[in-house]
Amino acid sequence: MSGRRFLSIGECMVELSQAGDGLLRKGFAGDTFNTAWYARACLGPDWSVDYLTALGDDALSEEMAAFIARAGIGTSLIRHIKGKTPGLYMINLKNGERSFSYWRDSSAARSLAADPDHLREAVESADVIYFSGITLAILPQEDAATLLAEIRRAKAVGKLVVFDPNIRPRLWSSYDVMHATISEGARSSVLVMPSFDDEAAHFGDDSIEATIHRYLALGAINIVVKNGADGVRLNFAGDETFVPAEKVETVVDTTSAGDSFNGAFLASYLESGDATAAARFAAGVAARVVSEHGALVAKEKLGLNGG
Ligand code: AMP
Repeated sequence: MSGRRFLSIGECMVELSQAGDGLLRKGFAGDTFNTAWYARACLGPDWSVDYLTALGDDALSEEMAAFIARAGIGTSLIRHIKGKTPGLYMINLKNGERSFSYWRDSSAARSLAADPDHLREAVESADVIYFSGITLAILPQEDAATLLAEIRRAKAVGKLVVFDPNIRPRLWSSYDVMHATISEGARSSVLVMPSFDDEAAHFGDDSIEATIHRYLALGAINIVVKNGADGVRLNFAGDETFVPAEKVETVVDTTSAGDSFNGAFLASYLESGDATAAARFAAGVAARVVSEHGALVAKEKLGLNGG
C-alpha cells in the first residue's frame, strides 16, 4: 500500500430536514464534507480520506465525529474547541420549494485554521488538498490568509491542490472581500472546479470560456467548469474537452450535485490520470445523486461496479 492521503478542509453542519407531522430529521452535511464522502466512496483502499474541521465538545459534536468516522473518513485532524458547537441548517419546504435557514455564525468550524502549527502538519501530511470558497468565507480574514499560505506551500512542492469557489455572497462581509479572497484561492490552487451559474452571477462571466480564462490568468493550471444538465468543460494544461451530463429521468434533489461530481472526478482522476474519463465517471455518479433525496447518497446506490 502506498498510503496516499486526500485531505478535505471545511465545515460540516448539522442538517435538519422535514420528516412530516412537524417532525425534523437530523443529518450531517456540508460542501467539503460531501466531496470527502464521495471521494471516499469512489477511491480505492490505498487512499485515506481525512476531514479537517473544528468541532465543539458537546454531544452533537461527538455524534458528528462518529458519523464522519463511520463513513470511513479520518477524524484525527479535527480540532475540538471547548464550549463551541457545530453549525446547523434547516431545510424548509413550502409548496414543493426548498429554502434554507442557517445558524453558523459562531460555529466551531470558524476556528479550523486558528492553530497554524496544526494546519501546517495537516497539509504537509496530505498528497491532495481540497477546499472551497465556503471554507474561506467562514474564516476570520487572518485565518483565511494562514490557510492560503499553507495551500501555496503545498502547491509549490507539487501537491494537487483543488479549489471549488462555491460562491455564497451572504457568507462574505462584502463583494470586494469575496472577489479578492476567491481569486486568491484559485491563484493558490492547481485545479479549480467552479459551477458556471455562480461564476456568471457573481463574477459577471458571459461564457464558460470567460470563466476558464479568468482562472487560468490568475495562475490555476487546470479548470473544470460544471454547468448542471449542460455538462462540463475541462481545460487541462491547455487541452479543452467537453463531457455531457448523463440523462436523468426524474431529477429528485440537486443538493450536492457539484460536490459529488468533484469527489467522484477526483477519485477517478487520482487513480487514472485521465481527466476526460474522470469527468465521464463523475457525470454518472452525479446523475445518480440528483436522482435521490439528500446530500449524501449511499455508496451502494452510486453504480460503482465495485470500484
Ligand atoms: P452543477 O453543480 O449544478 O453544475 O452540477 C454538477 C454536476 O451534476 C453536473 O456536471 C452534472 O454531471 C450533474 N447534474 C446536475 N444537474 C443535473 C441534471 N439535471 N441532469 C443530469 N446531471 C446533472
